[in-house]
Amino acid sequence: MLTRREMIKDTAAAGVIFTDCALMAAAPARAQSRAPAKKASRLPVKVKGKRVKTIDIHAHCLIAEALALLPADEAKKTYPQVKGSRQFDIVLEERLAGMDAQGVDAEVLSINPWWYRKERDLAADIVKVQNEKLAELCAQQPDRLFAFASLALQFPDLAVQQLVDGVRKYGLKGAAIGASVAGVEFADPKFHPVWAKAEELGVTLFIHPQSTPQLESRFKGNGWLSNVIGNPLDTTIALSKLIFEGTLDRFPDLKVCAAHGGGYLGSYAPRMDHGCYVSPQNCNPDIVLKKKPTEYMRQLYFDSLVFTPEALRHLVAEVGASQVMIGTDHPIPWNEHPVDHIMATKSLTDAQKIAILGGNAAKLLGIKL
Ligand SMILES: [Zn+2]
Repeated sequence: MLTRREMIKDTAAAGVIFTDCALMAAAPARAQSRAPAKKASRLPVKVKGKRVKTIDIHAHCLIAEALALLPADEAKKTYPQVKGSRQFDIVLEERLAGMDAQGVDAEVLSINPWWYRKERDLAADIVKVQNEKLAELCAQQPDRLFAFASLALQFPDLAVQQLVDGVRKYGLKGAAIGASVAGVEFADPKFHPVWAKAEELGVTLFIHPQSTPQLESRFKGNGWLSNVIGNPLDTTIALSKLIFEGTLDRFPDLKVCAAHGGGYLGSYAPRMDHGCYVSPQNCNPDIVLKKKPTEYMRQLYFDSLVFTPEALRHLVAEVGASQVMIGTDHPIPWNEHPVDHIMATKSLTDAQKIAILGGNAAKLLGIKL
């Protein structure tokens, strides 16, 4: 059994940060011990005394004007049933205060796609108003707010134009996409024109899962498995498809960044390298990959939303420190101390920490720090 001192040491090593309130609620014995509570990082963030700018590439909002295009009850249901949902409607001072408290200098906003099953005209209107409003928000705080464009990917020809407009007309930093489009995988050739345009523009596609709807019945019950398993699994499938169907070979310069540390992909990646050896009849002889499946992971980008220093250490070991950047899910409280998480990852050098805190995202998205 651990002594209290050992438990505190272990907790600190695991990078668990207690705010004063959480300290009282979660560890009353420790509060009574008068052990100094570790304060969460706020702005300005420093590494070895030097100011470092931080960028969170995974933050959300909704645009009221786009939701107004829906019937009222449907618009209401589009808000996720989670803590922080109210803050999806951005009130600027509140949003900036939240970022200050997290030690985040700049956020890259994205809207999770809820319009992939809408008909063409409505989808076009939703995306247009969202991209316009995202651009307006960013213009109000040009040093602190950036955004990924929305795309009506179910109509790839439309999505190509929306991507061009999003980047050139509205100054957005690429596009946020789901992990499939109404059941169609990203590896489907119908999406090739969109990936070709993203590659040509040199902009990033941010993959964000939406559960794995095909497994809905198995996710029922306690624990919100549709999210805690469904979301990382959805991302894992999306990335695996891009690798195995040869999409990343076809578009070798495509910049793809995956939410939630890429889901489970990094946790059990080497199995990918063995599948076609163990069971060649399950692999398409017409698809000859240019690299080992795991090697593609080093050209993909991932956010840091993997919770513990050990998980971050492992992700970095699999994909490289140059491929990882802060992701919080703000305003949903999944990762409220993103800076402390990175600072507590002892396997990282100071240069790697600085890169993950903001340098990698700045380089990938062309953000001046
Ligand atoms: Zn998210």
